[in-house]
Amino acid sequence: MSKDFDFIVIGGGSGGIASARRAAEHGARVLLLENSAMGGTCVNVGCVPKKVMWNAAQMAENIEMATGYGFSLENNGFSWPKIKQARDAYIERLNGIYDRNLANSKVEVIRGTGRFVSDHVVEVNGDQYTAPHILIATGGQPSVPEVAGSELGITSDGFFLLEDLPKKALVIGAGYIATELAGVLHGLGSDVTMLLRKDLLLRTFDHTIHTLLMEQMEESGVRILKNIQLTGLFSDKDQTLGFQYQGGDSESGFDSIIWAIGRHTKVAPLDLDNTGVTTDKAGFIDVDKFQNTKVKGVYALGDVTAAAPLTPVAIAAGRRLAERLFNGKDELYLDYRLIPTVVFSHPPIGTVGLTENEAREQYGEAIKIYQSRFINMLYAVSDHKPPTLVKLIVCGEEEKIVGCHIIGLGADEMLQGFAVAIKMGATKADFDNTVAIHPTASEELVTLR
Ligand code: FAD
Ligand code: NDP
Repeated sequence: MSKDFDFIVIGGGSGGIASARRAAEHGARVLLLENSAMGGTCVNVGCVPKKVMWNAAQMAENIEMATGYGFSLENNGFSWPKIKQARDAYIERLNGIYDRNLANSKVEVIRGTGRFVSDHVVEVNGDQYTAPHILIATGGQPSVPEVAGSELGITSDGFFLLEDLPKKALVIGAGYIATELAGVLHGLGSDVTMLLRKDLLLRTFDHTIHTLLMEQMEESGVRILKNIQLTGLFSDKDQTLGFQYQGGDSESGFDSIIWAIGRHTKVAPLDLDNTGVTTDKAGFIDVDKFQNTKVKGVYALGDVTAAAPLTPVAIAAGRRLAERLFNGKDELYLDYRLIPTVVFSHPPIGTVGLTENEAREQYGEAIKIYQSRFINMLYAVSDHKPPTLVKLIVCGEEEKIVGCHIIGLGADEMLQGFAVAIKMGATKADFDNTVAIHPTASEELVTLR
């Protein structure tokens, strides 16, 4: 194998693979380094296995609802080992597909940990390689706080290794992962407690969304403990797990405790000190809008930077970088504004643009809110009637849409198309001029008054 390449990519996750393959498509000689399973976080311990488990929890809900539709179905139990085995096999197939796609694209792959020897020399497994262009796409990992007994808890990585459904689970955190894992566990039959250090789930989301989410989760039986300042975890004489909090109070009886308090980068193995690449205080690599680090010809993108840590963001940035470097699109970069995002909670949430508070801060009195709360028709013949809420935030006389927030059944699949329109600059009148599709939940977004 040659030791000189056009492009070296460190990290075979969402961003790295996308960038490497696109560069190779344009004729670049590409080397990709990966020290773990191919596909990175999303495929192995993120979006993909999570969505399989979310689907499983949705199944449980659908079985319950089916009785209202005249079926004499009963939920006669659920096998966690069975879904885990099927999920692991699916991921193994995906790992193989990624390997084959890289080979078909003629990207050279070396399994091992890459480190910088100097700005343009990378070492892996004791050999050194050079390239005028080097991409750092090494992602992140779950954070665990430094409190007594923290090792008794698992993280989202550990969640995907669980061999059985925990009977009683404690989920610590208030973000995407805490919300999603708590929803999955509860949906599949676990007795779930969530522990928040403040008083809100998904605090940075629009207030109508987190209010309705918490209402729904609590109503469905998830216990949410708020404003708890945790001081440590412990294992008691009955071998159950517990937590201590402010004032010395404690609670135990859990068979699984999950840390879901955020993620951080792991850049130490890269030996960035041998280069001029800099990081911020939180450990994210500093980049400009073209993904350039402080060193010419060295780039970073995805979760290792401070950008929104989402798979499509890493992929989009990776492909644009490859187009810029190897296809003459010198001015191409990813526009990080108006990124749509979905939380696979129960019920799911879809959101793009500004929250009401952010819009008020930015535009003051110029904003107007359109909102509707209704029951999805799927629940028409069911005793269970969770609400859906759709909300548009518009600005100025032309009523340009600056925020769209949805919570309820189907929000996850609804948002993408609306996000296209909003990214194109749609106004409320554009939505009104679009004929509704009936009977659907999405039609509420084009019939708001
Ligand atoms: P990664 O995918 O993390 O890839 C980095 C790769 O680099 C890894 O494979 C790692 O092994 C490798 N590596 C690290 N250091 C080195 C080194 N020195 N040498 C060689 N290799 C190295 N996003 C969504 O959009 N939708 C979702 O539904 C979603 N769900 C998620 C659920 C969970 C539980 C988690 C944890 C994340 C989820 N995400 C989701 C976020 C998404 O997974 C990440 O944003 C995405 O994977 C980031 O891609 P990346 O390429 O930056 O990094
Ligand atoms: P998030 O940043 O979403 O949330 C973590 C939250 O945990 C914080 O916002 C904070 O909330 C709370 N927290 C932080 N420290 C502590 C602490 N010491 N004790 C208790 N609570 C604490 O991180 P996640 O790990 O949930 O997810 C990481 C990223 O991965 C997400 O931001 C998202 O971009 C991505 N992801 C995307 C998914 C999707 O697209 N569906 C799914 C999963 C992850 P507060 O300040 O309110 O207490």
